[in-house]
Amino acid sequence: MEFVSTRDARVRTTFSCAVQHGLAPDGGLYLPVSWPTLEPQVQPLPVTAAALMAPLVAGDRLAPAIAAMTAAALNFRIPRVTLAPDDSFSVLELFHGPTAAFKDVGARFLAEALTRLPDASGRVHDILVATSGDTGGAVAAACDGRPGLRVTLLYPKGRVSPTQEKQLTCWGDNVRSCAVQGSFDDCQRMVKEAFLSPHLRARHALASANSINIGRLVPQAAYYAATSAEYEARHGRRLSFIIPSGNLGNAFAAVMARRMGYPVGDIVLAHNANTTVPDYLSTGHWNPKGSVATIASAMDVGNPSNMERFRALYPTVEELRQVVTAASVSDDAIRTRIRLDADRYGQVWCPHTAVGAEVYARLPQQARDQAWCLVATAHPAKFREIVEPIVARSLEMPASLAMLFARPSRLVEIDATLAALEGVLT
Ligand SMILES: *Cc1c(COP(=O)(O)O)cnc(C)c1O
Repeated sequence: MEFVSTRDARVRTTFSCAVQHGLAPDGGLYLPVSWPTLEPQVQPLPVTAAALMAPLVAGDRLAPAIAAMTAAALNFRIPRVTLAPDDSFSVLELFHGPTAAFKDVGARFLAEALTRLPDASGRVHDILVATSGDTGGAVAAACDGRPGLRVTLLYPKGRVSPTQEKQLTCWGDNVRSCAVQGSFDDCQRMVKEAFLSPHLRARHALASANSINIGRLVPQAAYYAATSAEYEARHGRRLSFIIPSGNLGNAFAAVMARRMGYPVGDIVLAHNANTTVPDYLSTGHWNPKGSVATIASAMDVGNPSNMERFRALYPTVEELRQVVTAASVSDDAIRTRIRLDADRYGQVWCPHTAVGAEVYARLPQQARDQAWCLVATAHPAKFREIVEPIVARSLEMPASLAMLFARPSRLVEIDATLAALEGVLT
């Protein structure tokens, strides 16, 4: 299978190269050149992941290792917990991995892939991540202590919560955590400049781990495939998903699973006060904006990067409306929903999951005939500074997070310049 750029179908490469480079040379994002369809089967998650990925990596140098890679990457449980006696409402808990958010899935697979793709000149892969939250921790955890991989995290000093900062700074020798004297945008700019610097590229095998990397998206399609196949076998009908969304990577993964033949029903994108996508679907005008800060901060995205993939597959708004719907939820509604559902279901949502829970609560009556699955993107204790005051009690840390908190923190403070980043990389 070849992978093609969203901008020019003549720009093609292998799965391995798409994973190593992240972005296509013309600035586009990679998509498979065609969409294989599979016969859904009820299988353990890593087996489903290997089956779904097999046609995508056919002929690639990673193909023989794909089963080992999915088994190693998806080594934690992803349970679907039912919240209705007839199983018409349930929650898919994606937060049982090492850093308690769904980004562990893609980050762990990416680490498995890069470990198996040695640089031609024998250099270590230098993975640069600008992060304001979950991505950095997930990538660091996935690469921590792995030979051949080195991670440099850039986060805005003083602008992440203490719980988040701990997850960005508690790693071993091959992870460097940089508190940048600047904003998240400065961190992103520095990473972009590094990739554009001929001098740095000559010295380092730079790799990117953000959600434009196809190596993060493909393994995420597996949990939609496995969950929907299991639901259909059990109840004889499709399962619809409500997905808390920011850059639309998780949502695109759900669309992939459905395109590849799995019984995924409706896909609803649940956005916070960043309304670019809901506005596009309702008005037909694509009008990306600056991001608005909310309490569901991992979804504070005004110009979602994976929209480019959606628009490559579904060029008109009418086509996209056949594929997904979207809604937006305010911070006040998030807070109220966390409080209400803690009483109603005994479930404490993280602020991102609560966006989806609120969208579920607002579904029109006729949509209630379907079976719905809310996608829980993170554990609430990850955002305890926000959630604990709302539910007026303290939350228990999952063991994986508690372990991170027992480790010492290490970080360097740097200026928001490429020269400062270069100093760290040498
Ligand atoms: C990253 C993230 C999201 C948004 O996911 P996208 O794939 O960017 O749409 C939602 N919730 C949490 C907890 C996240 O970390």
